[in-house]
Amino acid sequence: MTAPYAIGVDMGGTKIAFALADRQGNVLARDQTPTLAAEGAEAVIDRIADGVRRMMAQAPGEVAGVGVCSPGQVDSSSGFVHNAVNLGWKSVDLRGGLRARLGDMPVFMQKDANALALGEMVYGAARKCSDFVYVAVGTGLGGGAVTGGQLITGATFFPTEIGHLSLDPEGRACACGLRGCPEMYVSGVGFRAAVLEYRAEYPESLLARLETPDAADVVRAAGQNDALALRVLAEGGRWLGAIIACCAGILNPALVVLGGGLGLAAASYLLPEAERELRRRVLPVTADGLRFVLSEVQESALGAAALVWYGLDWR
Ligand SMILES: [Zn+2]
Repeated sequence: MTAPYAIGVDMGGTKIAFALADRQGNVLARDQTPTLAAEGAEAVIDRIADGVRRMMAQAPGEVAGVGVCSPGQVDSSSGFVHNAVNLGWKSVDLRGGLRARLGDMPVFMQKDANALALGEMVYGAARKCSDFVYVAVGTGLGGGAVTGGQLITGATFFPTEIGHLSLDPEGRACACGLRGCPEMYVSGVGFRAAVLEYRAEYPESLLARLETPDAADVVRAAGQNDALALRVLAEGGRWLGAIIACCAGILNPALVVLGGGLGLAAASYLLPEAERELRRRVLPVTADGLRFVLSEVQESALGAAALVWYGLDWR
């Protein structure tokens, strides 16, 4: 039996969040610190190590390890983070840097959506489920998949990139360089693009008058039966169903866990359309075996803490 506590670290472009959690998912302490990525990777790793030490100081017992979720291409095998654009990191030995500062504390790493997927498996909506897909609808669109109880990590640690798997190469242009990425239809970025594309047709819409409508405005307007908002969310739901169909046709999951702040806020609009679209695209036997549920772990740092239990106990 390993020690009873784990520390999760959520690295973002602007802040680093920390959580001290037990095996049941209770968060005993939280903290955050600015990333200040411009000061360079060593300074950022110093700040992570300092935050981990603060969490350790508050732990009532032994800490089993540290889980870190990071932007970029997170090589969970070597411990390197590659191409983390919003940190300005080309290639950084994050695990090596943390071990040098924290001694022989086990350190586990994954991309954000993978950590949240494991958070659902360890603590949340996918407990006791060994085949599921996690979908995060936030500013962007991300995903993680578990099959046979194992997180899919891919050949180059870039799996389940559902936000940028083009389903229409003639579709809306995406910042990644492709066209027709699901992220351009079902995410904060996508909802905004849709409003700007369609709003000339809806002069009466609540959204037509806003200079910079955001995703929260869209959900709010939908609550007032705004025709433009309902169209944008219905379209988003169909794209969600289409990308889930890709995952379902290949992986045959039992659950789709919908997460992300926007995903939860817009779930009642997105899910009926997504389920309908799914049934247009996969065999009935695949769709019948699949349930949609809402995420229960919204804190990325808690998802990161779950990496420790997955890394130590699960495999
Ligand atoms: Zn894209």
